[in-house]
Amino acid sequence: MIATPGICVLGSSNMDLVAFAERAPSLGETVMGTRFLTVPGGKGANQAIAAARAGGAVRMIGAVGGDNFGRALRGVLRASGVDDTALRETTEPTGIAHIVVDGGGSNAIIVIAGANGTVTSLSVHDEGIVTSSSVLLLQLELPIEAAIAGAAAAHRAGVRVILTPAPSRPIPDALFANVDLLAPNQHELADITGIRDPKTALVSLLEKVPAAVVTLGSEGCLYGARGLPPFHVPAPKVDAVDTTAAGDTFVGVLAVALAEGRDIVEALHRANAAAALSVQRAGASSSMPARDEIDAFLLRLAGRA
Ligand code: AMP
Repeated sequence: MIATPGICVLGSSNMDLVAFAERAPSLGETVMGTRFLTVPGGKGANQAIAAARAGGAVRMIGAVGGDNFGRALRGVLRASGVDDTALRETTEPTGIAHIVVDGGGSNAIIVIAGANGTVTSLSVHDEGIVTSSSVLLLQLELPIEAAIAGAAAAHRAGVRVILTPAPSRPIPDALFANVDLLAPNQHELADITGIRDPKTALVSLLEKVPAAVVTLGSEGCLYGARGLPPFHVPAPKVDAVDTTAAGDTFVGVLAVALAEGRDIVEALHRANAAAALSVQRAGASSSMPARDEIDAFLLRLAGRA
């Protein structure tokens, strides 16, 4: 087993600006809110942090602005052990997600891509990072050209490509062609396939990619690969308080486990366990567990069995 498996994340970094109010304002209206938070986010940064906390040697390719949000995001990535030297600084401002959460917990979100939108291709240096990793993690928050270029470079070098198809948008065949493992949640799976039943949808997805794992919230996940019957890996029973970034924790930890050479069943168990730990705490990156915690939880679960 490799001690520090190389994970490359090619993805977004955002600052989430979250305003809480009893009810969201209508257009033209002002309401008084109750709380405001700035939270580091972006699916790319979240997956990078999850993988680094789980023990991966993680390098992140992306972009932030030369502003306070960019500096804050770099600080959080570095504090988690993510190598941010390929996270470029652009004249565009750092990407933000402007979020209003009402008293019932429903939200309305505006995302401004900002610096993320400038990542349309890979430099020679970026390609070197991709091709010297064992796993490449992609999502759909950067311009699609970047994901296509990253997946192609990785595929040529035999690097395993894991794509989280979020947010939902059409995925060109040029990207599908170089994906080894697709990791949608139930909504994304239904959006891609047009099929509601997860098992049927998963099987139909295998016409596009060789393997896929669909996350099922408290039910865990369903894995399928060409030529094998799909199987279900249940999640540990826990009291969930906040499922923000559970999917990103799942994928980050799955990537580390696979890069370490673990088989897919063990890797899915670790990913479920880590995500189950994260849902018991509020927050996104702040709720992601460290490697020791994942190991200890798996031992406790094995003792319970
Ligand atoms: P989701 O994106 O909601 O499908 O969740 C991603 C992963 O987080 C799942 O595959 C589970 O491993 C874990 N998870 C989410 N919600 C819960 C929950 N209520 N209890 C235990 N694990 C959960």
